Parts: sequence; C-alpha cells; structure tokens
Amino acid sequence: MNKTIAVIRGDGIGPEIVGEAIGVLDAVADKFGHAFIYQEAPMGGCAIDAFGVPLPESSLHTCLQADSVLLGAVGGPRWDAQPPVNRPERGLLKLREAMGLYTNIRPARMFADLSAACPLRADIAARGIDFVVVRELIGGVYFGSHTTVEENGEQKAEDIMSYAEHEIRRVAHVAFQMARKRRRRVTSVDKANVLDTSRLWRKTVTEVAAAYPDVELLHMYVDNAAMQIVRDPSQFDVIVTENLFGDILSDEASQITGSIGMIPSSSMGEGSRGLYEPIHGSAPDIAGQDRANPIGTVLAAAMMLRYGFDMAAEADTVEAAVDAVLKDGYRCGDIMQSGGRLVGCREMGRLIRERI
Ligand code: NAD
Repeated sequence: MNKTIAVIRGDGIGPEIVGEAIGVLDAVADKFGHAFIYQEAPMGGCAIDAFGVPLPESSLHTCLQADSVLLGAVGGPRWDAQPPVNRPERGLLKLREAMGLYTNIRPARMFADLSAACPLRADIAARGIDFVVVRELIGGVYFGSHTTVEENGEQKAEDIMSYAEHEIRRVAHVAFQMARKRRRRVTSVDKANVLDTSRLWRKTVTEVAAAYPDVELLHMYVDNAAMQIVRDPSQFDVIVTENLFGDILSDEASQITGSIGMIPSSSMGEGSRGLYEPIHGSAPDIAGQDRANPIGTVLAAAMMLRYGFDMAAEADTVEAAVDAVLKDGYRCGDIMQSGGRLVGCREMGRLIRERI
C-alpha cells in the first residue's frame, strides 16, 4: 500500500522522537512491502518563528490532504509570551477542529516489564491496568467563548461550556464500538448532579447504549472516577467523557501506568484519517540531549497503522518489538530502574527497528 503521512515534528524533543518513529515506520514498510511518503508540515513554535503563525495554511493543507498525521509535540518557554491567539497550542486546536477530530483515544496499559514504575500499591497494580479513555475533543468549555470583563472595580472571567446531542452521540458510538472489541464495558463519566451539559450527556449516552445491548453501561461522577482510577483501575474497560474531564482523567490514567514517555494517543473524526501523537509535551528540559523516550511516538505510529491504515499485523509487529526491547532490559532515562540498560533516544529507536 502507498500512504501519505503529514509529519509535524514540532518543538523541543519533537524532532528527535518523530525521527525515530519514522525510522520504525520505514522498517515496517520494508518488511511488509508498503511505501510511506512523508510530507513536512511545520506547526507550533518553529512555525511562529518561520511564518509568524502557529499553523500556516500550507501546513493545514498538507494535513488535510494526507492519509494521516504524525505529530511530535509543540510549545516551549520561548513562545510563552505570545498572545493567546498566537500560542503554539492554538495551532493544535485549529488543526483538530479543521480535521473534524471529535474523539481522542488514549490507552492506559501497564507494560508487565514496567510494573515497578507504577506508583500504585503493588496489590492494586497486580490486578492489571488496561483501559482506554475516549475523550470528546472539539466541544465543551475548550471551544466555548472566554471573556474577562471589568466589573465593580475588579476583573470577572467567564468560560462557556456547551454540548449539543449530536456531539455527544457520535463520541458515545466510538466508545461502544471500541468496547465491543474489548471487555464490553463502558463507564460514562459526568457531573450530572451539578451541570446541565452533564445531564444531557448522561441522557444521550443512555439512548445510544440501546443500540449496544451486549455492552454494559455504567455512569460515574467525575470526582468519583478520579478516585476509582487510583483505587482500582482494573474495574475500567472503556471510559467515555467530555473534553475537560477527559483531559484531566486521561493524564491521571497515563500517570498510573508508569512513564509519560510511553503513552500514545490518536484523535479521530469521520473516516480513517487521524492525528497520532504521544501524550506528553515538548519536554524542553531535555530537548537536544538524546535523552527523550521515543516509545510513546513509536506506539502512536503503531496506532496509525492499526486504526488509520487497517494494518493490524504491522501494528502488532511494532508493539511486539517494543515489548521485546523492554523485556531485554533496555530503558530510557524516564523509565530507568535498577539493573536496566540505559539508552538514549536514537539507540532506543535502533533497538526497536532491529526487532521488526
Ligand atoms: P512535558 O510533557 O513536555 O514534560 C513533563 C516532564 O516529563 C518533563 O520533565 C519532561 O522531561 C518529561 N518528559 C516528557 N516527555 C518525555 C519523553 N518522551 N521522554 C522522557 N521524558 C519526558 O510537559 P510540560 O513541561 O508541562 O510542557 C512543555 C511544553 O510542552 C509546554 O510548552 C506545553 O504547552 C507543551 N505541551 C504540548 C503538548 C502537545 O504538543 N500535544 C502537550 C502537552 C504540553
């Protein structure tokens, strides 16, 4: 197969980790007889420096024309003084909206060889961690109006959170379909005891559930969900929730599995074209030092193969290569443990390629 991949290297460690993921994709292409064509799409701080805006039209066009988009990370202290409308992350929000990416899928899976990195009590970790957070991505408070006004001699700020039924329904379908391929349990998270948007969320998810009688549906308040994720994560299979709650819970979920450098995510809309990236940021503190862990980005490339290109065997091969490298004891600094063999970003990429 021939596939065109838009590549956003971004800032900080972005170029280093994306370089290794591309190396892995090339090894997959060699092994399985595919051709991946990469097209550069500058975005983030580097695009502000070169073009004055975080997402130039040419980059957006490249992403919209590609079969899928691979992203490192954007942002860094150099661009923190930019006005809000021109910050690096505005480029990402604009891209998600333009691509119609309404769902973010983030697996929280603990690697058996990294169980020592799990910050939970050993008896809790022993029950296993393997669930997926399905987060609504282009609605809710992140896309409502934000205003700050002067009133009675002080500043007053307001953020509008709104959801329409269709925005809830489409993400609920993604969650139920994903549960059918897993352990058939969806936990819908809301704050229906306080928020109208959550009451609509609960009602709509319940209606969608009628089409999936083989999947169990549970409802949970977000404060309880935050607690249950650390008390007994083994109870979860698929969590579905709105944008703000999903942002927070998916970070919590990834933290309990070990390192932030290990976790991929995919953002999907209608059709197969998605955006694939690691969950972490641009890690400016270790940029340019060959210390970044590329595994999150490599596993994001595996998600691209599986969900974007329908290449399950190829994705399995990449994931097995990562498992094998970990089993052989190789570790980047963020997941280093006693007895481990410390390697840098480039060497970790080479070791994964070697096992494909
Ligand atoms: P971060 O995720 O970049 O870093 C947090 C900590 O984790 C740092 O100590 C970093 O060294 C470490 N870390 C992250 N990824 C790692 C990896 N692959 N290997 C080893 N260690 C890793 O979060 P931050 O410091 O809060 O943010 C830095 C910049 O990234 C900010 O400008 C932020 O806005 C941006 N950011 C971008 C994205 C994105 O592009 N999707 C997401 C989050 C943050």
